[in-house]
Amino acid sequence: MQDILPAQKQIFRLIEDTVRDVLAAYGYLEVGLPQIEQTRLFQRSVGENTDIVEKEMYTFDDRNGDSLTLRPEGTAGCVRFAEENGLLYNQIQRLWYSGAMFRYERPQKGRYRQFEQIGAECFGMPGPDIDAELLLLNARIWRRLGLDGEISLELNSLGSPEARNQYESKLVDYLQTYKTDLDEDSQRRLESNPLRILDSKIDRTRDILKGAPLLSEFLDDDSREHFETLCGLLEDIGVAYRINPTIVRGLDYYNRTVFEWVTDSLGAQGTVCAGGRYDGLVEQLGGRSTPGVGFAMGLDRLALMLAEQQELDSKVDVYLVSQGDAARAGALKLAEMLRDQLPGTNVLVHCGGGKFKAQLKKADISGAQLAVILGEDEMSSGSVGVKSLRISGEQVEINQSELVAWCSEYFSKEKVVG
Ligand code: ATP
Ligand code: MG
Repeated sequence: MQDILPAQKQIFRLIEDTVRDVLAAYGYLEVGLPQIEQTRLFQRSVGENTDIVEKEMYTFDDRNGDSLTLRPEGTAGCVRFAEENGLLYNQIQRLWYSGAMFRYERPQKGRYRQFEQIGAECFGMPGPDIDAELLLLNARIWRRLGLDGEISLELNSLGSPEARNQYESKLVDYLQTYKTDLDEDSQRRLESNPLRILDSKIDRTRDILKGAPLLSEFLDDDSREHFETLCGLLEDIGVAYRINPTIVRGLDYYNRTVFEWVTDSLGAQGTVCAGGRYDGLVEQLGGRSTPGVGFAMGLDRLALMLAEQQELDSKVDVYLVSQGDAARAGALKLAEMLRDQLPGTNVLVHCGGGKFKAQLKKADISGAQLAVILGEDEMSSGSVGVKSLRISGEQVEINQSELVAWCSEYFSKEKVVG
């Protein structure tokens, strides 16, 4: 689990602000979801035999003996939320949420045990138009973040659950003949979750997979039409994509469209956003049959991509220094006044005492434009010293009551100069 330093946090904030803006522009509504759900929810949705449920969940009994889990992903909780709050029946919803997810994985660059996602889920829309809209929305986010040159779209269709099962048994037949040559994980998955083998990163297994039957040959007609229409829409609108038949996703609830947005710039952790359709999930969790489609983007990976481009922007405009008890109180008070009357101005008060010289050095390091100086003399005469730290280095004494107007004028002039 990571500690997020200020420079990094600023990048997270930039991503969140951008994504929030874009989601609003497409009419998506934000919801708040709990970080803990009943363990059963994930077993029933993500699937018992997936990596996530088998070995990555933080699960514990609460004081009542109920098994709870720190959410490893957001879709299951969002479906539960939408169903319990009556948002699904005969309705169309475009929802989004953000927050931490938890998975017990091997930590490495771009892979953490607590990570941030922004997810969106759409309910009640069965056609490929909403799939296309989600991808357009993603593409707009990459453009807004200046990452569009580095992130590309990979698409696949898993077809109906029946088509998928049929394919799965053909795949198992094929792989059985090479069983002993497969890596250990894949041998295990041959029993538990064979589709996931397609996604193996092991060279020898990948070689064997080259001769495997293709999922696309097993697609049912409706799924094929859905997929072809989606591809057509993307071509019409000008969203570039590549069909990647090995994209199967690590969660059981997907059907039809699945996609990943990938980059070469993060090594093995190359997927920054992933999602797809889960038309059976609502019903599977006890609701009325409702189509669903969504995505989740990993903010930690996007932040790594942006980290190279950004510098920490810690903007201080005014830095107040003081000496003596009365002046210390006076400085806190003047700072409040500046914040009240000049909104948008960032004011830092030197706390912890020290000589004026040392305090002014801190003021300089802070990057502030102005230092406001308050000693015992100033307190008794009702005045204040103001020093321009960047332009002239000049210091003037003014009346305390003039400080706001003085600063306001200084900053407006500076803007003209700047
Ligand atoms: P991967 O194949 O990289 O393990 P995943 O298929 O498990 O990803 P999803 O469950 O689809 O990932 O989650 C969506 C996105 O969340 C991923 O594309 C990734 O950007 C991010 N993500 C997933 N797991 C982690 C993690 N452990 N640390 C950081 N980001 C993650
Ligand atoms: Mg994973």
